[in-house]
Amino acid sequence: VPQTPRITVTAIPGDGIGPEVMRATQRILAAAGARIDWEEAEAGAAAFRKGIATGCPQETLDSIERTGVALKGPLETALGYGEKSANVTLRKFFELYGNIRPVRELPGIRTPFSGRGIDLVIVRENVEDLYAGIEYLQTPSVAQCLKLMSEPGCERILRLAYALARAEGRTRLACSTKANIMKTTEGLMKRVFERIAPEYPDIAPSHLIIDNCAHQLVIAPEQFELIVTSNMNGDIISDLAAGLVGGLGIAPSSNVGDRVAMFEAVHGSAPQIAGKGLANPTALLLSAVMLLRHVGDFAAAERVEQAVFVTLQEGRNLTGDIAPKGEGAGTDAFTDQVIANLGRGS
Ligand code: NAD
Repeated sequence: VPQTPRITVTAIPGDGIGPEVMRATQRILAAAGARIDWEEAEAGAAAFRKGIATGCPQETLDSIERTGVALKGPLETALGYGEKSANVTLRKFFELYGNIRPVRELPGIRTPFSGRGIDLVIVRENVEDLYAGIEYLQTPSVAQCLKLMSEPGCERILRLAYALARAEGRTRLACSTKANIMKTTEGLMKRVFERIAPEYPDIAPSHLIIDNCAHQLVIAPEQFELIVTSNMNGDIISDLAAGLVGGLGIAPSSNVGDRVAMFEAVHGSAPQIAGKGLANPTALLLSAVMLLRHVGDFAAAERVEQAVFVTLQEGRNLTGDIAPKGEGAGTDAFTDQVIANLGRGS
């Protein structure tokens, strides 16, 4: 069997619980035989403390430029006015225009929606829209934020969603916008969607208004295979969708552009539990599984994913956020349990 070549990946442990969940993930990947060499890099609070206003030192940007792939822990967003968000810096610098968030039921995670067969992906535009960060005071008492959407920006995210549908063997793609009210901006995404749909005859397109999409996600989430949407809509419905299947502690994601892909948990730095050895590494670990598939190490991806499924299903040594009340184990015990389960599963 030909071996996957070794790949160098930039690892940004990040803030709060970041270093704890990163260490756990790296231990599990090493035990699974993943053919990855890590290049560690800094971003977030430590960089801000050194006076780097973007939150991302040049060496970190250089490392990602070189490797083309990063695994990133959560980065605290400074609350002052001067600093930027280090996350936004990374997204913008590398034009990571596609935020991909798989949402599926995991074994052993009980939710009010368990058994519904939820298995969908949300593809969120990641660099345009209201998050371009162009806002100002028109007068001392009137604030304005620009909602910027471009035709090329819409087209590349829509094509990414179509490509993902094909790659994953999905047959339906829903585009969700607020085109009924914001006819020029949100309407642009809808019009581009309708223009390019005939190029993908194997994928059935549909459009729905974003508020109805939120409603449908709650009453019948199993109807969706893939949803593509603009930045702010996607921000909100992807957290909603994560909540349907067990919450932020287990939700993975990737941020992709044409040159670079960056994988990260959806959750933040959880400062309340940082440094206590309590954090659940599952979300970063499942993000690392997406990374392994991205770099072509399918064997390691499968081993790790199956070990996570077996661990969740059996329910032994789960961390406090997903264990039955009063039974939570620590990050290390959970990590050891996943390692012990490597090689099990289908
Ligand atoms: P958060 O996701 O850090 O925490 C929300 C809740 O979920 C808390 O109760 C927390 O303890 C819990 N939680 C989150 N991840 C967990 C895990 N792995 N295991 C166990 N429990 C977990 O959200 P927040 O409190 O709104 O944000 C904290 C900081 O993180 C802020 O500075 C925010 O800007 C930043 N943030 C960063 C990212 C990112 O880097 N992508 C994403 C979201 C928030």
